[in-house]
This record gives sequence, structure tokens and C-alpha cells, in this order.
Amino acid sequence: MNGVGRVQYRVDKKSGNKLSALGLGCMRFPPVGQEAERVILAAINGGVNYFDTAYIYPNSEKTLGSVLKKHNLRESVFIATKMPISMCKKYEDFDRFFDEQLRRLQTDFVDYYLMHNVLSFSQWETIRNLGIEKWIAQKKETGQIKHVGFSFHGSGDDFPKMLDTYDWEFCLIQYNYYDENYQAGKNGLRLAAEKGLSVMVMEPLLGGRLATGLPKKAVDVFAKANPEKTPANWALDWLWNHPEITVVLSGMSSAKIAEENIRAATKFIPFEENELAVFSDVKNIFAESFKVKCTGCNYCLPCPKDINIPARFAAYNASYAQNYFAGVFMYFVGMGAISPNPISIRSCTSCGKCEKACPQNIPIRTEFKKVARRFESLPMRAALKMLRLFKNG
Ligand code: SF4
Ligand code: SF4
Repeated sequence: MNGVGRVQYRVDKKSGNKLSALGLGCMRFPPVGQEAERVILAAINGGVNYFDTAYIYPNSEKTLGSVLKKHNLRESVFIATKMPISMCKKYEDFDRFFDEQLRRLQTDFVDYYLMHNVLSFSQWETIRNLGIEKWIAQKKETGQIKHVGFSFHGSGDDFPKMLDTYDWEFCLIQYNYYDENYQAGKNGLRLAAEKGLSVMVMEPLLGGRLATGLPKKAVDVFAKANPEKTPANWALDWLWNHPEITVVLSGMSSAKIAEENIRAATKFIPFEENELAVFSDVKNIFAESFKVKCTGCNYCLPCPKDINIPARFAAYNASYAQNYFAGVFMYFVGMGAISPNPISIRSCTSCGKCEKACPQNIPIRTEFKKVARRFESLPMRAALKMLRLFKNG
């Protein structure tokens, strides 16, 4: 961590807590070895004190809890985690999930607790009818929940209703320079800030697409404007340039990436007005290649037919962002094209399970038709069959 420095801080308006402007998004911890521990420790060493996890993130709460316990760091950080509201069918479920979260996190309180993935106002009303407001009041009284908020993937029309329906202390929205007018959007950001809420931001890099998935032409535009800054650095700075934003969550898949993000959060200085022009050029170039708005969140998995939906979309987008052959290669590797049992998207039964879970509202079944046309045309399937026969005998 030599020379990395410590991140800047912003004040949570409701509590007065000093939160790191960079938070660790724990949705995509590295899957193997001790890298997750290294990421968490690198973040804390760099001054990051806001850690965002959720009940449904695989192994995330448990990993975070055990690393904090092992290094005696619980008191050094604020933990944010979330109630899986889509899984709550009765009042007792609230305690069932929450108690399990405390056990996984090895703590007896949660600093920032969110209603997870609110997709519509009517969904919130369903949870309210189950008694969530009474439950939150009890948890706040016992001190097991310090601050309450919600994470949002619904429409721009429903977001103001959510702000008005309860005395929230903070919210978590999807926001980045490409999504300025998507979901809560800049209007929602302004409204939340006017109400005195702290606004945390998720998907600052669109699941990495704004870091490593930009077409070369867009990377060149950034490089010309400032060769010192990476595309990820540009995207994070764009967010920190909003004083209404308190914490920007970044999922950091290695200690190296954590250190890069920390360096950016250390050095940030507000943009001059003329510097902002670069984003509209990059946005236009990126829009040409970002055909399916998939962020790779994996909420749609598992698919009953074992189709790795985000991987198929990543390949499809890469075939426009990089070049056709890069996309084809990703696609065929992902489906196990020359293995004895390749998993084609043509095995999709159209059950619709994935679409119900998708926070980006992607019409997955319809998009699959375009993907199939691009990668699984009749001649392509015939060629693959020949290859399989040749390889597997
Ligand atoms: S609609 Fe198709 S891709 Fe989606 S879950 Fe069902 S089988 Fe899988
Ligand atoms: S299709 Fe939707 S739910 Fe699935 S990974 Fe992409 S954004 Fe997430």
C-alpha cells in the first residue's frame, strides 16, 4: 500500500458519521483463496470504512464477518447489509433473515440496513403490509439497526414515492455517467439529497463495463484528455464530482484494483466545467457497443437450463465493443461449444424466471433471439457439430 494514501471522506447528513467516499461493494468478492481477505484489508488500510453486502450475495456476509472478526476490525468499519424483501412472505421472515445475517457477520448490530432491490412502489407496499415498519422500529429501539434505507432498481416515477413513504435516512441507487437518466437517475439523486438523505451509489462502472469493456475509441478519448487517468478513474471521479453523493461503492476483485480505486479516491479534485465534455463523446461511443444493458449482477441465476445468461450477454456486447471474433470466442468458450454437452441459449424454455429477477428489466428471452442470430446461425451450428464430432469421436 506504499504511496496509495487514504481516501477522502464525506459526512452522512443524518448521523454525522464520516464515511469514506469510496465504499467496498461486496457483491463480487474474488471466489477463491485469500484474495477476498486481502481486498478487505487493503480497503481498510486505505481508509475505506463503508462495506456493503447483502443476504443474497453468495458467501459475502460470511466472508466479511469472518475477516473483520479475525483482525478485530468490526469497530473500524460501518457495515451495510440488506433485507431480501422479495423472499419475505410473512412477518416472522424479517427476524429469520436478520438473525442469520447477524450470525454470518459475527456482529450484534448493523450500521446501515437496507430494504434490498426495491423494484416498484407496489412491491414496497406489499412488504409494508407484512409489518416491516413496526419491525424496523423495534430493531432501531434495541440498537440492532442504526440507520435504515433502501436500494432501488425501479422506475424514475416510483423513486419519489419511495422517498416520501417513510422517514428513510439513506438510499442506494444505480448511477454512473452512462446511467444519468436511468432508474432513479439525476432527478432522483437531487430529490433524495434535498430531503437530506445520504445517497450511496452502486454500479459506478456498470459491472466493469465502464472500466475494461469500453471500445478502444472511447479509451482513446479519455487518454487524450488525461493520459494519467484510467477509464475507471474517470468514471469514479465523475461520481465524486456530485456533492449530493456520499459513498460510491466499487466491487474490487483484487487487492491491486482496491489500491487503484483508493488512489483515485485519495486524489480526487472536482472537474473544471470544460473537462466534463469528454463524457458525452465517450457515452456516444459506448452506447453503440452496449447492446444489452446487462451489468453481470447474476441475480437471474441459476437458470433451470443452466444457461449462464450474463456470460452470453457479455460475449454479445464484446462482439460490438471489441470485435466480432473476440465475442465469438467468449461465447463459444462460455457455452462449452465443442464439449459433448454444450449449453445453447436455444435450450431456453422461456419460463421467464430470469426476467422476474433482473433489476435492469432486460427482456432476456427477446434479447436471446438477437444473440442466437449473431452466434448460433445454422451454418455456425453445423460447423460446431463437425468440430465436436472431430474432437469427441
Ligand atoms: S427464460 Fe430461459 S434463460 Fe430465463 S430462466 Fe427460463 S430457461 Fe433460463
Ligand atoms: S440479465 Fe439482468 S439479472 Fe442477469 S446478470 Fe444481467 S443485469 Fe443481472
